[in-house]
This record gives sequence, C-alpha cells and structure tokens, in this order.
Amino acid sequence: MVDSPQLDVIFLDIDDTLFATTDFVSSARRDALQAMINRGLNVDIEQLLTELELVVAEFGSNHDHHYDFLLKRLPTEVTQNVNIDLMVVAGVIAYHNAKWKHLHIDDSDRQLLVDIKESGIRLGVISSGLVRKQIEKILRLEIDRYIDPKLIFITHAVGVAKSNTQLYQTAIDATGCSASRIMHVGDHPFHDIDTANAVGMVTVWVNGGGKHSVNEPLTKPAYQISCFSDLRQILVSDYGLKA
Ligand SMILES: [Mg+2]
Repeated sequence: MVDSPQLDVIFLDIDDTLFATTDFVSSARRDALQAMINRGLNVDIEQLLTELELVVAEFGSNHDHHYDFLLKRLPTEVTQNVNIDLMVVAGVIAYHNAKWKHLHIDDSDRQLLVDIKESGIRLGVISSGLVRKQIEKILRLEIDRYIDPKLIFITHAVGVAKSNTQLYQTAIDATGCSASRIMHVGDHPFHDIDTANAVGMVTVWVNGGGKHSVNEPLTKPAYQISCFSDLRQILVSDYGLKA
C-alpha cells in the first residue's frame, strides 16, 4: 500500500473562499440603501446602488464614508429635506444587521473544519484586508474554534500584501513545516494561487463565481474546486481524511 502524501497545515482564505463575501456585500448594501429609502430618501434603489458602486470603486472597499459620499453626490433637491446623519446611520445599522443575519458557514463546511482539525492537520488563515474587519469575520463565522491563533495572517497586520510571496513565506516559517506539506485554499487566481505556488505550497483554487473568478491563475493550481465543501473530496482521496 502506498502511503498518502502528508499535510501538516491548511491555510484558508476567507472572502469568497470560506464565505461568499461578494454576494453578501451586495445584499447588505441593498439592505442599507433600502433602510435610507424607508426613512425618507426619495431615490430609486437601483440608482443608489449604481452610485454606491462608483463610490466604492473610486475610494476603495475599506473607506469609512461610503454612505456620506453617496449622499453628497445626489442632487440637492433629493437631499435638502433629509437629515444626512440620520440616513447614514440608518444605512450602517442595516448593514450591521445583515452581518448578524448572513455571516455564517453552513453545517457541512463546519464539519469539514472539525474533521480536518481532528485529523491532526493544523488550520490557519491567510486573508487580505483590514485587521479588525477580517478578525470580525473569523469570529462571526465562528471559525476561530478550529484555527490555530498563531497561524492567522492578515495583510494589514503583517504589512505585506497577498501579491507579495513574502506573506506566504512568513506563514510557512511560522508553521515550522515544509511548504510542500502546506496547502493554501483561496479564490484569487493571482494573489492566492500564483503567489502560493511560487513558494511551493499545495494550492487549491476555489473558482466559485466570486468577483475574482473572471481571471485564470498564471500558474496551475494543484487542485481546482467550485466551492469550499469540495475540499473534503480532495482530502479524502489524496490525503487520507475520513470520508
Ligand atoms: Mg478571497
């Protein structure tokens, strides 16, 4: 009998890998804008969504004042009779309510994390974004129960972006394991797959329709799946995880 290759660690991306962030964000933004309309903002929701997309594109997804900027950009006759602060906070509350409602992983994904952890493979996170924002997702998804807290690498905490192999090398060094026994699972063709390939990790590309799925990685991933739960089949067939 040939032994299965060994895995010591699996690193997971969060956005559009463990959680369908692109879909969540568009539905939470719609909730936020609907809350403003419900409080008296007299603008068509599709028009508001289009303008909000422009604000996000111009100022970045982590900017703090999307709604203020959106309201500033609307015609004066629309905003002159509303209280801007009241609108902004109504939007923020609705967005936060959407987090409570939707930031969960399903039971089969949770069971997969349990089974990985019980198999002795350590779990970590390599994620791009603001530290508090990404940690909030980890906590709301309750995946902190399965992840080694020393193996959480968030770009804004490390000061290195996912486009730089140094981020992945830092994560590898922290495990004390060989890169060939470390898997990275992510959706971004360049920032999850090409950079992790470049440092010798075993890459799994989640090509599931998130915002980055329009591009192909320049280097071949070891595996390609369409959703996170498909990872189980790879681990069962090639790494001896229980079915
Ligand atoms: Mg991602």
